[in-house]
Amino acid sequence: MIRGEGLDIRLREKAIIDMADVHEPETRSYNMSQIQAKDSKPEMMVRKFLHANGFRYRLHVKDLPGKPDLVLPKYNSVIFVHGCFWHAHDGCKDFEIPKTRTEWWKNKLFGNRERDVKHVRQLKDLGWNVIVVWECELKSDIIKKTLPELVKRLKK
Ligand SMILES: [Zn+2]
Repeated sequence: MIRGEGLDIRLREKAIIDMADVHEPETRSYNMSQIQAKDSKPEMMVRKFLHANGFRYRLHVKDLPGKPDLVLPKYNSVIFVHGCFWHAHDGCKDFEIPKTRTEWWKNKLFGNRERDVKHVRQLKDLGWNVIVVWECELKSDIIKKTLPELVKRLKK
């Protein structure tokens, strides 16, 4: 009886452990990928850093030129977090015109860049301190320099 119960419990435990073995790694990697995908979004990295350091901001303010990603009224500053490809980061190795449909891409990407330049000018005319953070500046090797630098530019 006791022995039987013991076996039963062990079997049940084993079943639970087996289930855990089967399901947990999947669940864990899913959660991880979700978290990483979200956290590694360049804009999220900037937002998290600023928030953790006590800066408060508004997001995607539609009534300002170019709809800046972050607006910090207290610091009279707006921040754009730009992807190097889509915003045609000049001289950046992450920006390369695709080898096919080259003309189309040139128009598209250089058009984006021109629009960015225009928005920066408009924002400056309105008296904003405009900061552009590039995606390549948020890579793990230099992010520790980029973010404190950003704070300095906010406090100027
Ligand atoms: Zn870049």
